[in-house]
Amino acid sequence: MCCTYIISCLRAQEATAWLCECSRDILQYSASDLIRAYTNFYRLVKTNRHIHPVTGKLQGLPSYKSKYQEQSICVQGHNTSVTDSRIRLPLPRALKEQNIHTGILKTRGLRTSKDPLTSLTIRLTKANLYFTTCLFNSQREIRVSGTGSVGLDLMAHKSEVAALYDGSMSSLITDIHPFPKKQVASLEQRIVNTQRKLSKQSKGSNRRKKTKLRLARAHYKLRCLLTNYYHHITTWLVAKYDTICIESLNVRNMVSDAIRPISRLVQNSRFGMIREMLEYKILDSNYGKLVLADPYYPSTQLCSSCGKKPTTKITLNIRSWTCEHCSVKHSRDDNAAINIYNLHQQASEAKLTKCSPYYA
Ligand SMILES: [Zn+2]
Repeated sequence: MCCTYIISCLRAQEATAWLCECSRDILQYSASDLIRAYTNFYRLVKTNRHIHPVTGKLQGLPSYKSKYQEQSICVQGHNTSVTDSRIRLPLPRALKEQNIHTGILKTRGLRTSKDPLTSLTIRLTKANLYFTTCLFNSQREIRVSGTGSVGLDLMAHKSEVAALYDGSMSSLITDIHPFPKKQVASLEQRIVNTQRKLSKQSKGSNRRKKTKLRLARAHYKLRCLLTNYYHHITTWLVAKYDTICIESLNVRNMVSDAIRPISRLVQNSRFGMIREMLEYKILDSNYGKLVLADPYYPSTQLCSSCGKKPTTKITLNIRSWTCEHCSVKHSRDDNAAINIYNLHQQASEAKLTKCSPYYA
C-alpha cells in the first residue's frame, strides 16, 4: 500500500509519535479512505464539477470528523479473525512491547460466516454503545417471493402505516401486524421530557452529559423499535406477494408544503425507509417486482370505480366520500390503495411505470 511508507515516517517523528498508540493496520485503512476521498474530489475538479451550480460553494472536499460524533475504526479482514462470540484485533506496538498479545474482545449476538472476511468495523455510537460490522465476501442468498399483486397506500399517521389492496379485499397493514403504539408513544414522551430537561441544564456540566446520554439512548431505542417493525412488514410483503405497487412520494416537497403538524407526521412516517427496504428485498427475491407510481399520480383524488375526479378536492379531513359520477361510497385510504393496485394492471401494457425486477 502506498500510504505505508508515509505512516512509518510519521510514527518515527516526535510531533506525531502518538500514532504509535494505535495499530498500523487501522491507520492504513484510514489513510486509504482519505486517498479515495481526495481522488474522488480531484476527479470532480478535473471535470469542473467541484463548484455547486446553484450555491457556488465548494463541494466534494473531505471534511474533518468531529470527535463528538460517532467514532469508528476499520481493519482489513486478513489482519483480524472472528468467531461466534469473540473478535481478535491487531494490537499497537506499545502493547506488544509489554508482552500483551491477545487483543481479543467479547461480543454478543455476532453473526459469522464461513466465507472470507473482507473488513471489520467497530463503531461507538452517541448512545455509548459499541457495534461491530463484519463484511464477508459471499454469494447473495435468493429469497423466495410470493404470488399475486398488492397495492400499498402509505399513510402519514401516528399508528397506521399503510392501506393494502390485493385484488379482492382491502385492509390496514396494522390490522395484520399490530404497530407497537404504546412503546412508541412512551419513548416519544421520554424524548420530549429529556429534551426539555437538557435545554435547561448549563453547558459543560456533568448532569447535562448524563441527560445527553439518556436522550441518545431513547432515540436509539425508538429507532430500533421502528426499524424492526418495518423490516417485519416488508419481509412479510415480499414473502406473500410477487408484485408490490407503491407511490414514489416526494417527501421533501410534502414536508415543505404541508402545515407543521402534518409535515412532522410525514417525516415520522419513514416512507423512504419502507421503499428502500422493499427495493432491496425484492432485488434479492427470485421473481418479485416493484411498481412505483409517479409522485404526482392523484391516487386519493380519483374514483376507483369510474376513474373520474370529483369536482371538489378531497382534503385531509375527508375520510370517506361518495362519487358524484357513479354514486359509489369510498373510504379514503382503501380507494387510494385500489387506485395504486389498478395502476399496475394498466402499467404493464401502457408502460406508465417501470415494471422491471426493481426500479432503478
Ligand atoms: Zn366514480
